[in-house]
Parts: sequence; C-alpha cells; structure tokens
Amino acid sequence: MNQAAILAQVARIHGDRPAVSFGRSVFRSYRELGTRAARLAGALRTELDLVPGDRVALAMKNHPLYLEILYAIWHAGLAAVPINAKLHPKEFAYILDNSGARACFATPDLAGMLAGIKNEVPDLEHLISTVDADIEELYEADPVPPASVDPDTLCWLFYTSGTTGRPKGAMITHRSLMFATTNYLADVDGIDPGDCMIHAAPMSHGSGLYAMPHIARGANNVVPESGGYDVEECLDLISNWPGASFFFAPTMVSRLINHPALGGADLTNLKTIVYGGGPMYLEDVLRAQEKLGPKLTQIYGLGEAPMTITGLPKSAYLDKDHPRYLARLGSAGFARTGVEVRVVDADGNNVGFGETGEIICRGDIVMGGYWQNPEATAKTIRDGWLWTGDLGAMDPDGYVTLKDRSKDMIISGGTNIYPREIEEVLLRHPDVYECAVVGRPHPDWGEEVVAFVVPHPDKEIETAELDALCLENIARFKRPKEYRLVTALTKNNYGKILKTELRDLLAGEAEG
Ligand code: ATP
Repeated sequence: MNQAAILAQVARIHGDRPAVSFGRSVFRSYRELGTRAARLAGALRTELDLVPGDRVALAMKNHPLYLEILYAIWHAGLAAVPINAKLHPKEFAYILDNSGARACFATPDLAGMLAGIKNEVPDLEHLISTVDADIEELYEADPVPPASVDPDTLCWLFYTSGTTGRPKGAMITHRSLMFATTNYLADVDGIDPGDCMIHAAPMSHGSGLYAMPHIARGANNVVPESGGYDVEECLDLISNWPGASFFFAPTMVSRLINHPALGGADLTNLKTIVYGGGPMYLEDVLRAQEKLGPKLTQIYGLGEAPMTITGLPKSAYLDKDHPRYLARLGSAGFARTGVEVRVVDADGNNVGFGETGEIICRGDIVMGGYWQNPEATAKTIRDGWLWTGDLGAMDPDGYVTLKDRSKDMIISGGTNIYPREIEEVLLRHPDVYECAVVGRPHPDWGEEVVAFVVPHPDKEIETAELDALCLENIARFKRPKEYRLVTALTKNNYGKILKTELRDLLAGEAEG
C-alpha cells in the first residue's frame, strides 16, 4: 500500500467529494483527481519513458495541480523531488543535478528560468510547464494501475533548506510517509471527510505532506489563489470552508495573531492550527491561545524525520490546572506513537531528566539516508538512531523541551549559552516583534552574545529596557553584550530567521 493506492481507494469511496479547491471554488473531485493522476502516470511511464525509481522534480509554487502531479508521480512508481519555488537558479540547478531528475514540472513563473538552466543539468530530459496547453495533452494517455512499490524505496527526496550548510537530499521512503500519514490521524488530529487543509505554507516543504492524511480521509485540500500566505485571504477561506486546518511556521502564527483583521473575523470554521518547524516562544503560544481559542497543536519534526517526532496535543493547551502547564506549553511535547526519542550525550548515553543533550530518535519516520551521501548518512544515522542536531532536555513524564540547534549554541568562556532562552526573555517586552540572538567571535571569550531586535512597527525601544529585562531574568554571563535594533530579519521561504547571515555579518565586522 502506498499513497497512490490510498488515493485510488478514496476516489472510489468519496468520488463526489472535493479533493482540491482553488480559493473558494472546487477544482477537482476525488473521482477526477484519481482518474487524472492515473492518466498522467500513464503518460509519465509510456510517453516520457520514465521507469520506476526515476526522480521527477516539482518546481512549483502552491498550485491546484500540485497534488495531481505528485500523486501521478507516485502512481507511476517514481520519486518526487519537491523544490522550494523561491530558491536561486543556481540552487535549482544544484538540486536538479544532484537528484538526477529526468523530468521536472514547473509553474509558469519558474518555467522560463528553468529553460535557461536546463543545459547545466544533463540528466534533465523533460521540462513540463503546468500551463494548460503544455500539460493537458499528457492527460490523454491511457491510465495505468498504481505501481506496486517496495515500502523502503524512495518516495520524496526532500532537500534540507540549508540553514546550516549545503542542502542534502533526505530520502523519505514510502514507509516513512505512510507512517507520518497514519500517525497524523492517530496522534495529531482526527480528520473528517468534510474537513479541509488550507495550504498557505509552501507545499514543497514538509508542510505539503499534511495533504496526505487529508487525502487518506477524503477531505478537501484548499490552495489559496495567492499561492501563499496572506492573512486576510486565509480569514476569508476560513469563513468559506468548514473544518479548516492549517500548518503554520511560528512566524506565520505571529503574523496572524498580530493582524488587525483577526479582530472582526469569524473563526467558527477554524478547526486546528498545527505549528512547528521552528521554536515558538511561550509568550506567542499564550497570545495565540488567547486570540484563537483551543485550536493549537504543535509538532516537532525535521526534513530527515518529517512531521512526527514529538508533539503537543490540543489537550495540553486546555489543562491549565496542571502544575507543569506552562513548562509543557513551552515544550515540544512527547514522542509520537511508534517513535522512540532519547536525549543523549556525545557517546549516545542517556543524560538525566532535565539535563541538556542531543535529541535522537528511531522508528519508521526516519529517512532512509541522504541521497548519494553515505558519509553524511553514517554521521546522522547511527545504529538506526537519527541524530537530529537539536539540543533539548526531557522531563520525567517524557516531555521534550528544545533548547536550540547545536549549531546555534554559543560557547562563551567555555560555557554553553542557548540563544533561545535569551530570545524568550526579550520577547516578553511588549514592543519586541521578533529577535535573534547569535554569537560574535571574541578574542578572549571565544564568542560573545549579540541580540538583534525588531520592534513592532511604530514602536520605539530603548536598549536599556532590554538590558534591564535580561538582568532581571537570566544570569549575567548570558546577557547580550550588544542589542542591535533592526527593522527586519532575513528569513528563508519557510519563515526561519537566517542566523548564518547574522553570524557572517558579525564575523565580518570583527575582522574588518
Ligand atoms: P537545515 O537542516 O538545512 O539546516 P532547517 O533547519 O530549516 O535546514 P528543517 O528540516 O526544515 O531544517 O527544520 C528542522 C528543524 O526545525 C529542527 O531540527 C528544529 O531545529 C526546528 N524545529 C522543528 N520543529 C520545531 C519545534 N516544534 N520547536 C522548535 N524547533 C523546531
């Protein structure tokens, strides 16, 4: 059984239900989605001559054809390579070349650029634009039955976003994706056929995988007409579609709860906001809960183990009388069913409860390895355990609190400082919109702490106020040596602050 077989089954059971919608209109029923995916799969196998195991890239912004193409790829026994639509042409060329993709589907905004780099990618034979005239003739092919695939074969070759180095292809297998799908339904949120997932986050990222449990249950997948995240459009879609769920990166939640249009919005149809992919600070969690009601649930995952390593269920947000209520809300929850999670020292021995170590996990959710990179695979997966590169601590009940990525940790005078702890404190200032704490090279201390702080629009902050807040709440050695007020922080397509850029900036200043 794989995702394509699931779609074929759901198309029989829920044929008339909406499968994909574009804005407020239904775009495809399940019957149409199933039939068209089978026809397109036929074209991939017979006309493009692709064979099981071949990679097919998706260079697409969020688009109503996205899921149809993705399921056709799986239906044909091929592997999908989703590419972030906002990457630089050189990064596209790198991923296309590294993955050895033989075909690439492209939305019109990217097709011209891809035609320009095609000759740098020798394995790429077919570039198919999603413009009707180019793609529609492929649907004339005879449908083929879903390919039978080994669960351990490649299904989704996901390139890490490279916030900590050059992108590597995480090989997600059919087994991992099946696990993530069923685990979502069991542990994250129940889905009814009348519900929908509104895809406001990039579908090329892990957030696109939230379509799979929705398809498995015959629910609707709504693609916003803007192709991305626009708060007012999301509020409009909520008012139109019942049982609406979203996946939001923490910065997307902040934008929603700080938006003036939220005040008058009717949120009756809003079912769930799943957030994750980066730290959401306790202050923001509490503010979001106050403004949205009990709709939040958190996931912790990474490209190498998508969606479901640990999670915080909706019930944790309601259990206000629990003595560890706030600690739990500030954590990333506990291991999902079927995932083993440990916190260990450098030798792989468990550290004590409450002590910081690296988070490692094991289970079907873990990738098969990095694409054509046995060295990186051997470093990351040891004895079946995935070393996440995230530092955290576990409490006796199994709740895991993330401290920081090991690469973001600051070592000053031989002491470990976790930027997230300082960021949490700075965010308590009512006029701080967002912030990032990084290390600056220092001749005596190794590194010293610097805070970049973005005030809310139209607000002014005195750095002395920030310093007083830090003095009140954290040890003196963790206190930033400089508070730099800036108007914005550079983020990647998924809303993650690019701390590497800030570190490079500071290192350049220190040298210069
Ligand atoms: P790269 O691996 O190339 O550096 P990246 O950091 O963006 O890129 P992703 O796989 O996109 O990699 O993101 C995974 C990381 O996001 C995790 O390792 C963790 O640091 C962070 N993360 C994910 N979920 C949460 C969460 N709920 N709370 C805090 N951080 C999270």
